[in-house]
Amino acid sequence: MSMARIIDGKALAHKIREELKERIVASRAMGIQPGLAVVIVGDDPASRVYVNMKKKACNELGIYSEEYALPGDVTQQELTTLVDHLNQDPKISGILVQLPLPKQINEDQVLAVIDPQKDVDGFHPVSVGRLVLGIPGYISCTPAGVMELIREAGVDISGKECVVVGRSNIVGKPQALLLLREHGTVTICHSRTKDLAAVTRRADILVAAVGRPQMITGDMIKPGATVIDVGVNRLPDGRLVGDVDFESAIKVAGAITPVPGGVGPMTITMLMKNTVEAARNQVG
Ligand code: NDP
Repeated sequence: MSMARIIDGKALAHKIREELKERIVASRAMGIQPGLAVVIVGDDPASRVYVNMKKKACNELGIYSEEYALPGDVTQQELTTLVDHLNQDPKISGILVQLPLPKQINEDQVLAVIDPQKDVDGFHPVSVGRLVLGIPGYISCTPAGVMELIREAGVDISGKECVVVGRSNIVGKPQALLLLREHGTVTICHSRTKDLAAVTRRADILVAAVGRPQMITGDMIKPGATVIDVGVNRLPDGRLVGDVDFESAIKVAGAITPVPGGVGPMTITMLMKNTVEAARNQVG
């Protein structure tokens, strides 16, 4: 039995970050200093981990960063005022509001206040609209990272059966649009999909973004398929696993991303890339 090739997200992220470092040095020589503002609300431990990773990546690459930690009972108005202020701040090229936000906050409204020129997370309606229309704009970081991983695997998307499991605004939907943009034949699955396995078995390229530990098993995968696992799930025993059952999937797939070490490192790398591009775009 042949085993799938493992697509090494950590190595690819490292390679892209080295390239970014050079671009940042070159930008600085032209007087352009990329800067990222990260806004975190409340004390969600997972959000804290992600924000710390983003700040660390900025430091390593030479991107200026600021963190704004707001209490969990912040008002919509206070959050909007902060984002407005960051929109005007010339030191800030990219603004990231860490999701999820507390219940009293209307998330869509906050995201819509971000200047689309600084929307490095790609969640603003203008960014999403650009993606739908197929015109250049900021692409949300996780699906953008997935596209880099597929490219790294040497897979040509054009004409392929692509199945995305999950339809969130953050991953599933933009992912499907990106695959479509590369001329894939795209199917989107979700919680109402009937006979999920029958659909996933058609996929030459399968992207799992569900949030259910190890739900995609080897028998749901077409032999030789490229499998990208976006899921990050913590098991009761503390282990971190994806949405794909790696052990059974690796025996069937042609190429597969591991968790951890697959999509995760790419997400933050694409955020850094968007921030560098934002800084350059803002000087014209
Ligand atoms: P959401 O919870 O927002 O969306 C999950 C999607 O999965 C929904 O569209 C839902 O369908 C669908 N779904 C749920 N159950 C089933 C099922 N039984 N069969 C088919 N589809 C189902 O999650 P996200 O998109 O935000 O995240 C998905 C996963 O990716 C999570 O594990 C998250 O932690 C991870 N993630 C990882 C990132 C990284 O950098 N590595 C970044 C972002 C997310 P419906 O719409 O019908 O409810």
